Amino acid sequence: MKAGILSIGTELLMGKTVNTNATYLSKEMAELGIGVYYHYTIGDNPGRIKKALNDLLNTCDIIVTTGGLGPTLDDITKEIIADTLNLKMILDERSLSIIKERFVMFNRAMPESNVRQAYFPEGSIILDNEKGTAPACIIEIKERNKCIVVLPGPPREMSYLYETYVKAYLKMKNVTKMHSVYLSVYDYGESAVEEKLLDLIAEQTNPTVATYAGDGKVLLRVTASGEDEQNNIDAVNHFVRTIKERIGNYIVSEKGDDIDKAVFDLLIEKGLKIALVESCTGGKLTSALIKHSGASEVVDCGLITYSNDAKVREVNVSRDTLQMFGAVSHQTCYEMVKGLVAKTGADIGISVTGIAGPCGGTTEKPVGLVYIGISIGGEIYTFENKFSGDRDLIQNRTVYKALKILYDYLSKM
Ligand code: AMP
Ligand code: MG
Repeated sequence: MKAGILSIGTELLMGKTVNTNATYLSKEMAELGIGVYYHYTIGDNPGRIKKALNDLLNTCDIIVTTGGLGPTLDDITKEIIADTLNLKMILDERSLSIIKERFVMFNRAMPESNVRQAYFPEGSIILDNEKGTAPACIIEIKERNKCIVVLPGPPREMSYLYETYVKAYLKMKNVTKMHSVYLSVYDYGESAVEEKLLDLIAEQTNPTVATYAGDGKVLLRVTASGEDEQNNIDAVNHFVRTIKERIGNYIVSEKGDDIDKAVFDLLIEKGLKIALVESCTGGKLTSALIKHSGASEVVDCGLITYSNDAKVREVNVSRDTLQMFGAVSHQTCYEMVKGLVAKTGADIGISVTGIAGPCGGTTEKPVGLVYIGISIGGEIYTFENKFSGDRDLIQNRTVYKALKILYDYLSKM
């Protein structure tokens, strides 16, 4: 089933209020297997609300509106819906007495304008709002097999009504189920991923596959929808297998996890201790692991050896090596990780040394040149990388690459 969310309120368009209702509803409805196709955000303007409603009625089976249920003159959602559907507004005596009771309870006189909140388009299913004065409603358009769910703007009231009444209603309405798997791809760009999967993406109908890029990751979402849940699961699994045959080496999680979490889980699973020695990333790599609770079980230490002296003092890099090959070299990177493991006795060691820029580069050793070393299973390997970007980006790319190297070795152990 197709759904659209209509967020009503001028404050949303003016940037005064963040539209958290739309995010909340999209997430919740996706969990029910309802595809949200449109988000409309409209100010408190009758003509534009009506136009948006008509658009959504033409394209969606379920419309959820939020906002515009207050007692003031700019709260017009129910009136506009009634007008659009040619329905009368009818006073619901029960809702009126509940609203009156609330005012008595809070010891306040009820302004006449609050009476409007007890009027609904005729035939509405009324949802009592225990968290505020504005009751909500559902309007079913039976001849078109569509419905409009009308919820108040305040997020606390909106989510209460959704949880208490709307979720069960939508569950009952929606016979289509949806199943999604999220694959986290690292060390492979979005366009490269797309190229490898071009035929799958171009021909997709069900399952569908979509890519989202950000923070070093390309997230691939594979979704199947249909009435039979097992069919959806089978269809997604089949698709995922095909994707893994093509780019499996770059997939670090089938749960959409970030790479630091994937590495962290592997370290825990294998019961291995890691030590890290960083130069150009200044602790960012260690922090990526430390941010997970339980890090003390797997992280022995993270050293930052920024100067040459620190590299000699802390991890026993030889002055001759630094003199002959420089701080940013295979040889220094190798000695850093070798010294680190000798000093700490950790199962795995990682070293990083590079030029994050923007200054400090030469033609021979340009900005973005980074060496990453790993000591694992008694062997040491070093990798040369050339990253582009500003200082921050080069550091982040180094972190993702080091984590990918770690992931690759750990997953093969
Ligand atoms: P209303 O039901 O239009 O009177 O909205 C009441 C209040 O709810 C507004 O002043 C906003 O603070 C809040 N609100 C309305 N719509 C949203 C939304 N889409 N997301 C988050 N807050 C909202
Ligand atoms: Mg409003």
